[in-house]
Amino acid sequence: TTTVRAAGKPGKVVVAGVTISSPDKLLWPAVGDRPGITKADLARYYEAAAERILPHVADRPTSIIRAPEGIGGETFFQRHAMAGSNPRLKLIDVKARTPYVAAVDVGGLVAIAQSGGLELHPWGCAPGAPEVPDQITFDLDPDEGLDFADVIAAAKVVKKTIEGLGLAAFVKTTGGKGLHVVVPIKTDARSRVTWDQNKAFAKAVAEAIRVEAPDRFTTTLAKKARGGKIFIDYLRNGRMATAVAPWSPRARPGAGIAFPLSWGQVRAGLDPAAFNLWTFEALLKKPDPWADFRASAVSLKPALKAMGV
Ligand code: ATP
Ligand code: MN
Ligand code: MN
Repeated sequence: TTTVRAAGKPGKVVVAGVTISSPDKLLWPAVGDRPGITKADLARYYEAAAERILPHVADRPTSIIRAPEGIGGETFFQRHAMAGSNPRLKLIDVKARTPYVAAVDVGGLVAIAQSGGLELHPWGCAPGAPEVPDQITFDLDPDEGLDFADVIAAAKVVKKTIEGLGLAAFVKTTGGKGLHVVVPIKTDARSRVTWDQNKAFAKAVAEAIRVEAPDRFTTTLAKKARGGKIFIDYLRNGRMATAVAPWSPRARPGAGIAFPLSWGQVRAGLDPAAFNLWTFEALLKKPDPWADFRASAVSLKPALKAMGV
């Protein structure tokens, strides 16, 4: 990756109309022959991936993990608008003390990079409608010592259960240790559900899976309950809860990206670390396995009934 300077203005980097201060600030350190990733690199990543990211974050309240001094420095979760929030970001009133921020376009994503925002964690709501859930995330968290193959097997169990309920299941890496299985749901007036129903449904599905294989799965948050099991974290599905967005970088060593996959990719040999800020250009050239995500949404109501919620 190279830093392209605006012609005639030494030191000034502008990406998608946003001026990047300290463009050479190192956010992720070099790894072997992979160069360090700077703030300008991150801004250009968001610009390049905007078309793939925006369908999943645009106009949704978004928590941002900021690491202005890079991943080795202080990091913090920014949930609300802060003094000096970039005008490229939209403010969303969610009846909280201070509004949330949301990107609505490429300039907003680049403004997040400009503020040292490395990770994007949107609500699972419909765009512009914070009170309307539009997806369900099953966050599969393996206990230490489990193999990624165990996570893959767990994701397939969730897929089968969800498809058995007439819903569609998509899968992504997290840029970390687990996988997320994500279910798009319809949000029209007749189909929409409340946040409480959304979360109760996710819990009921998680419990049903645990009951079938209690030696493999737990639905208890406490780490000590995990003992060699996969925690099916259904808690991502209430009001104000978040999950990392598809294509969001992670503020962790390895500069991983939460990456949308096709189910065909979810098999032995899948290496989630292969999706990162050094490999994204090649990844962007491939078709989007989540292109049909929104079009695949189904009403949750029959499935709610089937699960007795
Ligand atoms: P991994 O695969 O390593 O588990 P992950 O993104 O799934 O990665 P989790 O710790 O399981 O990480 O968290 C799931 C989601 O919950 C995150 O993507 C994030 O949106 C949200 N989350 C996690 N920790 C916090 C926190 N401290 N405050 C707010 N939201 C959080
Ligand atoms: Mn997780
Ligand atoms: Mn979790």
